[in-house]
Amino acid sequence: MKILHTSYIEISKSALEHNLQFLKNFIGSNVQISSVVKGNAYGHGLEVFVPIAENCGINHFSVFSADEALRVLKSSTKKSTIMIMGYIDNEQLEWAIENNIEFYVFELDRLEKTLQAAKRVGKIAKLHIEVETGMNRTGFTFDQIPAVLQFLKNNSSHLCFKGLCTHFAGAESIANYYRIKKQQQLFKKVVKKVALAGLNPEQKHTACSAAALRYPKFQLDMVRFGIIQYGFFPNKEILIEYLTKNKETENPLKRLISWKSSVMDVNKVKTGEFIGYGTSYLANSNLKIATIPVGYSHGFSRNLSNQGIVLINGQRVNVIGTVNMNMITVDVTQLNTIKKGDEVVLIGKQGDLEISVSSFSEFSEQLNYELLTRLPSNLPRLVVD
Ligand SMILES: *Cc1c(COP(=O)(O)O)cnc(C)c1O
Repeated sequence: MKILHTSYIEISKSALEHNLQFLKNFIGSNVQISSVVKGNAYGHGLEVFVPIAENCGINHFSVFSADEALRVLKSSTKKSTIMIMGYIDNEQLEWAIENNIEFYVFELDRLEKTLQAAKRVGKIAKLHIEVETGMNRTGFTFDQIPAVLQFLKNNSSHLCFKGLCTHFAGAESIANYYRIKKQQQLFKKVVKKVALAGLNPEQKHTACSAAALRYPKFQLDMVRFGIIQYGFFPNKEILIEYLTKNKETENPLKRLISWKSSVMDVNKVKTGEFIGYGTSYLANSNLKIATIPVGYSHGFSRNLSNQGIVLINGQRVNVIGTVNMNMITVDVTQLNTIKKGDEVVLIGKQGDLEISVSSFSEFSEQLNYELLTRLPSNLPRLVVD
């Protein structure tokens, strides 16, 4: 017997194809796209997303950590390049080198341990040297760069200087403009230093989605596209900037994800009764209500209590009362027909209406990024056209 989940996620192949085509037109023809799939591919489901992306021509994936790299390795069918931008244990370095997995190095201990691991494995390690340019998170400082370069030179038979990179501290917001510009200047200084030392990393890369759009000069050899490939602009500012620059009026991207459930029960409530836990919602008239088996344990934020909106039978209906762990209640008084089993759209389209993640996350004061990545990994992901 197949036990069904109370809700499921659909991932659209054609939407991804569309977005990647848009992005390819946007970047230079010799700029490599790295598809960022950390955070369970921004909640889309890493194992589902990677093969679809590969079928759309993607051959480079970026992850945060070694465990995510392993998941990409297992789900890749086309031997794509995998790059770890964050956490890897020294104990896992040999495994990474063995499997051709590239990784960021941002401190001297990692550099030395990588050399030892490469010698033990008997294979060249592919490193991306991360430069601290002002984010103040990880990376070699400007003062450390000469020592790093010397180390790479001395050990070039074991270490491949694959990349030189940095990350901007909030390229999506114009309020950070000067900070980003300073980072860019410092990065350019490091690039010069590297060239003067006679070294030539294969790929210089700095840009996430927002930076690739706002600072096209910094697309360099590779862009690390996260949120945008999934069909979301990093924030409204970047969307509006794009639209005004290009004299367009509509978001050119398509959302890949939809989240759906179905009506669990339909009931009547009399005027003067409270609905759900406590007293947060009082029925001011006779109501028809429907329960839906999705709650905060499934990623439907508790902040959406008395605020959320879902689609049923082509109409918007309001969440009333508090979001429970596994259930919400919605007001369906306006619907002429509604019955157990009817489709409920939590994110996505139904008829002419749409609930986008961004309108959804405005209610809940969550960013697109956070809402997406908090969608539980155990919800089934179905690939649709
Ligand atoms: C997450 C991340 C990205 C992708 O960011 P988006 O805003 O989703 O495009 C790029 N680079 C690094 C280092 C990251 O951590």
